Amino acid sequence: MGNIKKIINGKEYSEKFLKQVYTLSTNFYKRFNRKPCLAVILVGDNTASGIYVKNKVHTAEKNGIKSVKVILSNKVSEASLLNEILKLNEDQNVDGILVQLPLPVHISEKNIIHSINPMKDVDGFHPINFGKLFMGNPNFIPCTPLGCYYMLKNELKELSGKNAVIIGRSNIVGKPMASLLLASNCSVTITHSKTKNLREHCKKADILISAVGIPEMVDETYVKNNAIILDVGINRLQFVNSETKANETKLVGDVNFGKVVNIAKKITPVPGGVGPMTIACLMHNTVKAAYKNKKQSFNDILGEIF
Ligand code: NDP
Repeated sequence: MGNIKKIINGKEYSEKFLKQVYTLSTNFYKRFNRKPCLAVILVGDNTASGIYVKNKVHTAEKNGIKSVKVILSNKVSEASLLNEILKLNEDQNVDGILVQLPLPVHISEKNIIHSINPMKDVDGFHPINFGKLFMGNPNFIPCTPLGCYYMLKNELKELSGKNAVIIGRSNIVGKPMASLLLASNCSVTITHSKTKNLREHCKKADILISAVGIPEMVDETYVKNNAIILDVGINRLQFVNSETKANETKLVGDVNFGKVVNIAKKITPVPGGVGPMTIACLMHNTVKAAYKNKKQSFNDILGEIF
């Protein structure tokens, strides 16, 4: 029972957040006689990517956002993909563009990300948006760190002066997360695969954010008493069902929830933690892009971030 109070329920957070997104998207419809529109490009037949795209399209439609799906074969050339993006960049009725990653190896992710109009870059991966975030003048913020930030602000109210440690330095999670926390006056340590004494760094964290992709790597030896833990990792773990003896799989995070929950003050579970807020933030960014497309001011649900 005590442990339930410790769980940061990302599903509940996302439901409340999406209600506000829905209000904004319906107001947009009333003013402009069309819904905000998200274009999602899926290249190839990667099963996980297909599921992610399906979830994004489904959530968009439930929240008053039109979605356009562009499905391309995994043999599509980079030039053809760039041409699809160019068409969407020029289409006034498309507000947000998302290219589901990863792409087949013959296509440069960098070239693709750079080709998206920064004003439609709802993933926040374009260098202009990335740079704006780091310079304290954010436009579109990557969805996973934005969702983490939103939950942290709600859980902690005041982030100033906290020691935050991030495990992972990717462009989509670790680095933008660090920027958001730094702007909130945390003292931020970014760790990675070459970090020495990782445990010692983590042990100092008031806020520990793990985005590694190693199942249950973070156990009680990494965690300070009363730390807040956000587990970004999504890992599929194989196990043998002790009753049926069948091989099964389950989703786990980077954090060994069972070993850490008693030490932590608050913790996000996997699934049901960071994931739902990531999709909710994509919807937020799409509605924001729609208002910006119409050159209208946008009353941000998140308030002033900086
Ligand atoms: P990347 O593979 O791009 O980055 C992983 C990071 O972890 C790298 O910086 C790497 O270091 C670091 N790392 C790897 N091994 C270790 C180690 N032993 N000790 C310390 N650091 C290590 O992954 P992403 O950032 O894209 O994703 C991370 C995880 O988050 C994945 O499980 C992914 O599925 C999940 N994810 C979840 C989302 C959600 O919505 N919940 C959204 C996005 C991602 P180095 O740089 O030195 O290689």
